[in-house]
Amino acid sequence: MTFKAEYIWIDGTEPTAKLRSKTKILPTGAELPVWGFDGSSTNQAAGNASDCVLKPVFSCPDPIRGGADLLVLCEVLDTDMNPHPSNTRAQLVEVAERFTEQEPIFGIEQEYTFFEGDRPLGFPVGGFPAPQGGYYCGVGVDEIHGRDVVEAHLENCLTAGLGISGINAEVMPGQWEFQVGPLSPVEVADQLWIARWLLYRTAEDFKVSATLNPKPVKGDWNGAGAHTNFSTKAMRESYDAIITACEALGEGSKPLDHVKNYGAGIDDRLTGLHETAPWNEYSYGVSDRGASVRIPWQVEKDGKGYIEDRRPNANVDPYVVTRLMVDTCCTALEKAGQV
Ligand code: ADP
Ligand code: MN
Ligand code: MN
Ligand code: MN
Repeated sequence: MTFKAEYIWIDGTEPTAKLRSKTKILPTGAELPVWGFDGSSTNQAAGNASDCVLKPVFSCPDPIRGGADLLVLCEVLDTDMNPHPSNTRAQLVEVAERFTEQEPIFGIEQEYTFFEGDRPLGFPVGGFPAPQGGYYCGVGVDEIHGRDVVEAHLENCLTAGLGISGINAEVMPGQWEFQVGPLSPVEVADQLWIARWLLYRTAEDFKVSATLNPKPVKGDWNGAGAHTNFSTKAMRESYDAIITACEALGEGSKPLDHVKNYGAGIDDRLTGLHETAPWNEYSYGVSDRGASVRIPWQVEKDGKGYIEDRRPNANVDPYVVTRLMVDTCCTALEKAGQV
């Protein structure tokens, strides 16, 4: 007897990495072995030394195939078993381990857009739908496009055991969101990558594509982000710690260090319009959806909770955004003695 293991990894495509996967047949009950692939076809190696190594780091039930079949998220190593330069997970693991006592957790809001050919789902051929206003969290065929795909994706994520916490229709037609978390830094990032893979794979069966393009339609249409909600134990207990984290993200070169690693094309999305702050001006505020970082009103009222970094693009690497936020905020909290 055998089962199918779908080995999934993040490639070396620039400026935004893509997901790849292939299937391994294993004897029932077998451990998940390391495997290899042709790195010269994924921008991860040269043709004359093309082998790269896949090392399983997270697995879950495969909701598409069912039964005992698995989805297996892998990190990419070189043949010396060192992390490949494209392996951003290894860097996150190191930083997250340094700050485990602060108990950082994340909830990431993944926005995305369905496309049918070269048009967002719901856009008429050769034109535009009615302006934005009624689509966000809307209902009815005049406003909603792709709900059958969204429901199937949600069901698949739940069957896989992922920590999905919700879904909603977004401001532009054909645009949607799901949220993963709150979970530890490595967990939220691993699970978000699997949820993205399931999104593409689920949409295949409906003959539509999904994209994380941060600004899929130019002009007066919302971009797609990946708001990153963050807290530590201290932030979940005190407002001073919330402020320390917000201030730390604004200090010195930090705003730019973060923004330039928050996804390709970020200046197209962070214009200061469409519920964004300009990419080159850092700000934070209570309830402020035009700020870089928002403190939810409930957090101010309770005097504790979490913050929302609204800057990350939909196409951000979750291993990178969580590493930067943990590093910046946990270092500052430690310095301030607020741990
Ligand atoms: P928005 O109002 O910005 O659309 P959402 O409900 O879409 O908010 O997303 C909020 C996210 O914040 C969820 O993923 C949720 O799990 C996460 N979250 C809630 N509490 C915390 C916390 N203490 N630390 C980190 N993330 C949190
Ligand atoms: Mn949201
Ligand atoms: Mn949203
Ligand atoms: Mn949000």
